[in-house]
Amino acid sequence: MNIILLGPPGAGKGTQARHLVETWNMIQLSTGDMLREAKSSGSEMGQRVAEVMARGDLVTDEIVIGLIREKLVGDNAGGFIFDGFPRTLAQADALGDLLHEVGETLEAVVEMRVDDDALVNRITGRSTCAGCGEVCHDVTKPVPADGKCTRCGNTEFTRRADDNEDSLRQRLMEYYKKTSPLIGYYHAKGTLRSVDGLAAIETVQTSIAKVLDN
Ligand code: AMP
Repeated sequence: MNIILLGPPGAGKGTQARHLVETWNMIQLSTGDMLREAKSSGSEMGQRVAEVMARGDLVTDEIVIGLIREKLVGDNAGGFIFDGFPRTLAQADALGDLLHEVGETLEAVVEMRVDDDALVNRITGRSTCAGCGEVCHDVTKPVPADGKCTRCGNTEFTRRADDNEDSLRQRLMEYYKKTSPLIGYYHAKGTLRSVDGLAAIETVQTSIAKVLDN
């Protein structure tokens, strides 16, 4: 089963994807994570995208499609979760072609609906465990007093360079201009399912599980 998690920055795609990896043995393909890895490895491509990402703009379709293409070969366990990809209509078309080439299909596109005010609060208070990617939040889920991640025990938490108000404003603009048309695109294809992304994490998990069960 292959699915897309679709939603604006801060909608909770990464959190839900990690849960699906644990419970459904799926493979998370996050283009944002891949680009951040490229950036920290200091590769030539990583250096090229660093500024684009810091501004909150989208990197080119060519780069992200190339990253996804590399990951679609080999065993896909319980299926792929596309997290943060596709973000443009060209990427959506390319994903359809790539899946077809490897004999796979897209079962569902889960749209996580949230409102912008909630996104600003979610994003500006966010920190991520460097060990396992667990996401904490200054107000709603603070890093434990002993500084240790509840999931893996690591003590290093990082804040993303683009989790600030200016960048977020630009990331939202990119989302509405370039990514939100995908909602109509997948609706027309009959694969779109929407869940309330503002509900509690466990409630969203249940809503997504229902989509997958069907
Ligand atoms: P994310 O971690 O998904 O919020 O992505 C962080 C940043 O990486 C985005 O603001 C973009 O600059 C870049 N990025 C991630 N995925 C894509 C994509 N599918 N297309 C273009 N840019 C992307």
